[in-house]
Amino acid sequence: MISLKFNNFLYPLILLFVVGGCQFPSKGITASYNYATCQLKQRQSPINLIENSIKAKNALNLSICYATHHQIAKNLGHTVEVEVEVENEGIVVFKNKTYRLIQYHFHTPSEHKLNSKIFPMEMHVVNRSNYNEYLVIAYPFQLSKKDNRLLNDILTHLTSNSEEDLKIRFQDGIESPKSFYHYSGSLTTPPYTENVEWLISRNASFASASQIQSFMEIEGYNNRKVQSQFSRKVDIIDNISIVYE
Ligand SMILES: [Zn+2]
Repeated sequence: MISLKFNNFLYPLILLFVVGGCQFPSKGITASYNYATCQLKQRQSPINLIENSIKAKNALNLSICYATHHQIAKNLGHTVEVEVEVENEGIVVFKNKTYRLIQYHFHTPSEHKLNSKIFPMEMHVVNRSNYNEYLVIAYPFQLSKKDNRLLNDILTHLTSNSEEDLKIRFQDGIESPKSFYHYSGSLTTPPYTENVEWLISRNASFASASQIQSFMEIEGYNNRKVQSQFSRKVDIIDNISIVYE
């Protein structure tokens, strides 16, 4: 009886849609939209990367080229950010998509954890496709007795108010990554946009305590806490080609 009443109630509505008026989304579209909305909160970053649970190697190729000659370091208060001045400062090709380097910035302490361990700092290299899709490469930093030259160059440029472009060589401060953790996540600041490709270097780079302190004094504790992984898988990418122009 209940189902009969339900059908009777819906019948005039169905007729209305068939006869004319605005195009109403089909059942299928409505269903997938709801599904996407439901999934939105389940693909957030950062996450805790548990080495033992990550077994799958992914055969995908990752190609990175960084030039990094025309940049400007900025104190944004909540982070130190280096913005690129021209379009061809960096190109990343992954899953047949091309991304351009737009900026990189720092978090103190790190956002991603490795086996529940937090690092003193994490650098995020942000790349964007022509379709506004993001790919972020993350480099964790460990403490070292020596200063990191790349970080020194950024801090010097930041405090000198130089009008000259910052010319940087990533290879002067980033340990060449042997492989990356890879998963699908989000931006870690508002609007927390999802479907971001994340690649986190499995080997850390190094910075001195005084350098970390300098970044911390500018940006404070600007790390988002780790988010639930839900059903997402993390895999490992080691087919990497990196070129520094
Ligand atoms: Zn970030």
